[in-house]
Amino acid sequence: MTRFRHILLALAAAFAAAGAGCAPARPEPLDEIPVHLWSTSAPAEEPERLAVEARKPASAPADEWDAPDVRQWRYLVIHHSARESGNAEVFDRMHRARGFDELGYHFVITNGDGGPDGRVEVSRRWRTQKWGSHTGGTPDNEYNNHGIGICLVGNFTARMPTKAQLESLDRLAGYLVRRYGIAPENVIGHRDAPGASTECPGDRLEEYVRGALREKLPIPAD
Ligand SMILES: [Zn+2]
Repeated sequence: MTRFRHILLALAAAFAAAGAGCAPARPEPLDEIPVHLWSTSAPAEEPERLAVEARKPASAPADEWDAPDVRQWRYLVIHHSARESGNAEVFDRMHRARGFDELGYHFVITNGDGGPDGRVEVSRRWRTQKWGSHTGGTPDNEYNNHGIGICLVGNFTARMPTKAQLESLDRLAGYLVRRYGIAPENVIGHRDAPGASTECPGDRLEEYVRGALREKLPIPAD
């Protein structure tokens, strides 16, 4: 092996180790669930009280968040990238370098450093309604198979996301909870998943998710 190749391999290893966010170091076994097992029943009726208007930010085309009814979503799992900058494309490269099939999250909300402040990026993973690869290690891989992964760019251990990021999170979470009938208590920070061993999404964002965000969410229809 040439010296040049050695250097390349070392660089690749360093890049992989630096990886994005809090996803597991290697992919969990993913149990794809046959689409035909899932009901394709009509979406739940609109709840009467909508504390959060599920409007979409100007940066997201009108129908971009909608997806076919092929998977039963039960949780929203909120993450931080732990890095101050980035976007879906950057994290996609990092996750692939770590052996993931592709970007592990379904949505990324950028912060002005790597993408517009408060922009909701919709991943291919969401468009194809693929299981998540963001919250491994739970029994039966429940939180990957049935959890929608939303990553806010930044490190929220000691500070809050930007105002624009929080507004986008409110709208996106409001839309998804209403669309899939997800209970507010199933909107969680990554660290709340059973058996999780992570600081993600940081103390400040965790506090927001468990408090203010849940209080704003619509009551899902039965
Ligand atoms: Zn996480």
